[in-house]
Amino acid sequence: MRIFKFGGASVKDAEGVKNVASVLEKVGHQNTLLVISAMGKTTNALEVVIKNYFEKSNDLNASIQEVRKYHNQILIDLFEDEEHNVFFAVNSLFNDLEYFIRSNKSPNYNFVYDQVVSFGEIVSTTIVSYYFNEKGLTNIWLDVRNFIKTDVTYRDANVDWEETQKLIQEGVDKNKLYITQGFLGSDSNNFTTTLGREGSDYTAAIFAYCLNAESVSIWKDVPGVLNADPRYFENAVLLNQISYREAIELAFYGATVIHPKTLQPLQRKEIPLYVKSFLNPLLPGTSVSKGADLEPQTSCFIVKKNQLLLSLSSLDFSFIMEENISEIFALFHQYKMKVNLIQNSAISFSVCIEDKFNNFEELRNHLAKKFKVSFNENVSLYTIRHFNEKSAATVETGKTVLLKQISRETLQIVTKE
Ligand code: ADP
Ligand code: ASP
Ligand code: MG
Repeated sequence: MRIFKFGGASVKDAEGVKNVASVLEKVGHQNTLLVISAMGKTTNALEVVIKNYFEKSNDLNASIQEVRKYHNQILIDLFEDEEHNVFFAVNSLFNDLEYFIRSNKSPNYNFVYDQVVSFGEIVSTTIVSYYFNEKGLTNIWLDVRNFIKTDVTYRDANVDWEETQKLIQEGVDKNKLYITQGFLGSDSNNFTTTLGREGSDYTAAIFAYCLNAESVSIWKDVPGVLNADPRYFENAVLLNQISYREAIELAFYGATVIHPKTLQPLQRKEIPLYVKSFLNPLLPGTSVSKGADLEPQTSCFIVKKNQLLLSLSSLDFSFIMEENISEIFALFHQYKMKVNLIQNSAISFSVCIEDKFNNFEELRNHLAKKFKVSFNENVSLYTIRHFNEKSAATVETGKTVLLKQISRETLQIVTKE
């Protein structure tokens, strides 16, 4: 069985949905399970709904209607008959969303977040499934929450592999065409959970692992994995073949084309991953598989924007020792900071961190009780894999370098633009 994942960009409008159907017509649609994300920027739009809800904003209703209207337009563009059942199905999903928002009593932000953002994926897969059936691509719509079981870490749930594997193996017939949602799971009380932003690639890997799939293809708006994000670097070139190890490193350092959690389950079963263009489905794209001889010869560039460079030193000039460091890391964990780079010297300790959950203010106050805290906001972290003098110079030119770290394969630089 093959697992295909189509992300938000591939289904951002009616043309996109039609294109996904045409990709399947070109590359075949038997024995395939499709994992599909929310359409376009729907997850971001639903995040606005959640914010409005918690802030009791007057814009709450307008923000819901915006999401409703966006999907309705896609429906109008896809289905001629406005009496088609899909209009009722989607309308009823939005009514469910509104009902949840009206009746919810939970003050738990992360719980509410997952119950609300999940509508993006549920609506999107409903539309695509109806459209495919209409076009003769007969498929079965699966509610992924009946298959991927997780703990209760809302917004960043951990998969219960044993239970998930059992449910997937029992419930999926390898000879059919399925459509299901990326990014979602459910806890033991059947409340919706999510696997972390951009987590749909990971969903594809979970299904592949549990089904011993022959391959996973993630269909993107780029020709494959390039040696740099074309949004930030000119002249990016395609990497035809890379090893799991290289892909894990690139994803870990922030090459957002593959979600970092995707690779490990695939690598464990040596299931090949293809990163391909949904605009040119017959081109080979990038193949990620086993093999140390697949390392790219070219330098690969990765940038993470919007980072914080935080430096801590002791108030009394004493050394920063293991004990302090473990305490500092416990706080990073508590405040959900993503640590992207670490450097320490005798009396100071610097980290480049990402404040995904807006907790920096609180963390800083906490740390200030014990350390002298200094920081730079809004810095960028550049990583160059397989660096050389020339590639390092390309990144450094015209920028103020705040910190630099070199290892055998990798150069990392924190800059202020
Ligand atoms: P999806 O639609 O599946 O969510 P994403 O937008 O998350 O897809 O991923 C595709 C994007 O990843 C590309 O448009 C590109 O801007 C970005 N990207 C970042 N790093 C790379 C890279 N090394 N190679 C290709 N694309 C990259
Ligand atoms: N829709 C989710 C997000 O935008 C998951 C995904 O697209 O991978 O984060
Ligand atoms: Mg995405």
